Amino acid sequence: KNAGQSTSLNTEHSAANDPKNLRVKLVLLGDSGVGKSCIVLRFVRGQFDPTSKVTVGASFLSQTIALQDSTTVKFEIWDTAGQERYAALAPLYYRGAAVAVVVYDITSPDSFLKAQYWVKELQKHGSPDIVMALVGNKADLHENRRVLAEEAVDYAEKNGMFFIETSAKTADNINQLFEIAKRLPQRQSSSS
Ligand code: GDP
Repeated sequence: KNAGQSTSLNTEHSAANDPKNLRVKLVLLGDSGVGKSCIVLRFVRGQFDPTSKVTVGASFLSQTIALQDSTTVKFEIWDTAGQERYAALAPLYYRGAAVAVVVYDITSPDSFLKAQYWVKELQKHGSPDIVMALVGNKADLHENRRVLAEEAVDYAEKNGMFFIETSAKTADNINQLFEIAKRLPQRQSSSS
């Protein structure tokens, strides 16, 4: 029932949108196993369920947040649902996305490299004013950390991305991640 809405998701030109009630397509990217589904479930349902895969199979969840100035942002969250390879090849997945959240696992340098690959894909196929976040998930496993925060900060800065480390398990920084909504271009112009 959500499929019919996909053509109206683009918030790039916000004239037709109510600036107080934004609807925002958010795509998740990142290697399989980095915790994308768990981040979404933590955000939407306030739960951590390591066996979440099946529930998120629908790969579409939405959640509305209120910002301090009483704007509401309804995120329409697209998860690759295990189809990471397909998503990387499908500019359709990015089309109309106002926000992209690229996730890696701080214990996996490979997943960090893969995140960089997806950033390049977004730069090629995404909307030019897409707001991008780089997310180092599984921050609770800091004893096994293999990606330095400094390295990720550096990469994020060079690519104009918001950076945050999260834990879907402990809920650390999950809500803060979605405050990325404050960076949406139409919000910045409407709040000035
Ligand atoms: P996805 O393939 O990127 O959607 O990854 P999932 O959300 O399915 O998570 C993959 C695995 O990582 C699961 O076994 C989760 O329990 C685990 N996981 C996800 N987030 C975290 C986290 O923040 N901390 C820890 N310790 N494990 C996590």
